[in-house]
Amino acid sequence: MDTRHLLVVCSALLSVVLAGKHDIYSGHSVYGVQVRNRDHQMLLHNLELTLDLDVWQHGIISEREALIRVAPENKAYFLQALDDEGVEYYVHLQDVAQALEEAEIERNSWRASGQNRMMFNDYPRYDEINEYMDMIASRYPDLVNVVTAGKSFDQRDIKYLKISTTNFEDSSKPIYMLTAMIHAREWVTTPTLLYSVFRLVENLRSQDRDLRDDIDWIIMPLLNPDGYEYSHETDRLWRKTRSYRPHINDTCWGVDGNRNYDSVNFAAIGASPDPCSDIYPGPEPFSEVETAYVRDVLLEHVDRIQIFMDVHSFGNYITYGYGDGTLPPNSAQLHLVSAVMGAAMDVNKLPEANFYRLGNSGLLMYFTAGCAQDYAQSIGGVPFSLTLELPSYGHRFEVPPQYISHINEETWEGIAASARVARTFYRAKATPPINPPVNPPVNPPVNPSNNN
Ligand SMILES: [Zn+2]
Repeated sequence: MDTRHLLVVCSALLSVVLAGKHDIYSGHSVYGVQVRNRDHQMLLHNLELTLDLDVWQHGIISEREALIRVAPENKAYFLQALDDEGVEYYVHLQDVAQALEEAEIERNSWRASGQNRMMFNDYPRYDEINEYMDMIASRYPDLVNVVTAGKSFDQRDIKYLKISTTNFEDSSKPIYMLTAMIHAREWVTTPTLLYSVFRLVENLRSQDRDLRDDIDWIIMPLLNPDGYEYSHETDRLWRKTRSYRPHINDTCWGVDGNRNYDSVNFAAIGASPDPCSDIYPGPEPFSEVETAYVRDVLLEHVDRIQIFMDVHSFGNYITYGYGDGTLPPNSAQLHLVSAVMGAAMDVNKLPEANFYRLGNSGLLMYFTAGCAQDYAQSIGGVPFSLTLELPSYGHRFEVPPQYISHINEETWEGIAASARVARTFYRAKATPPINPPVNPPVNPPVNPSNNN
């Protein structure tokens, strides 16, 4: 059998294997909705709550459309509501199940072709990610420490890396803290942080030596391993954690990790009280161990963390707090750091991607509460807290692996540029005082004695 026939047989077999896996999304469509004003945004948010819509992308008024997944039983009501208000829309994806199946077949055949030589140029699984972190820590013991923050709800280890030429003992250095994959389906986020580790440790280039020497790094590439594995095995579009609280609801699992942080207006804006919703914030702040670990690391190093950045997918956005549209006192500097970062990524992007848009998350896109960006900004001590929404190159959550290495590179350029500009403020101590926390943390840090 020649190679071509072999490939045909293989993809036919794959189709058989995959048949049924994405059936829960059969007949679901994604609509592109033109958001022209705040009323349109409110209409979409109200429909999101009543019809349990799945918002793939929040639009920007009169500039970028919102992308909304709608179940077949809700389509008529949804489209009528848009028509009634004169909101324009189009069918962006006719059948979500079919699109997911095609993407998976394409991904598998790319993998079978052997082009993913480096694991961060593909979508590595939980075990591979942990292996990489353990390997790099054992190979570079003077530079890298691997730390287990604790267990996930389903008892998987949640690990992170500390990268420092001075074992985190030089208190004059700023810390850059990066987190990814609290939202399980946003697969391209973890590779970008693994690649950043690669660039800082295994593949340091001479022009980046200052970043390794002058800055300490905390990198948490996989915050929600339960959701991530579930999105590979069972439900490609799973977003939440996998916690289970039958006394609250015995048919729905999980909490939206990026609504679960302690903040003003927790659960009151940009969230749903329905435990089955994709934006359910949980019964209380930090109900999820996965977000509590991030809180503990933030509080342990709060005096030195200069930038905290939580990486998401998708849309080419950089946002800062607060989610209710109010601004911290250093908003000019926050905007500058975001702009330097966005510009560095824009000059490295492929032509077909959007330019980065940046600003306050509430004013630019939609109001929220309880997200990591707001919590880190509010604790006092972290001047620059950002959310990064990576590019999808038009493929939404299903970024073809062929694009990953480019996204890794351009994101690294952004991280490097933001690290350098933030460092100048750290040296000059030119950051104005940050608002004190409005709400005290619900739970004290696990080990308060570490919080110097
Ligand atoms: Zn996200």
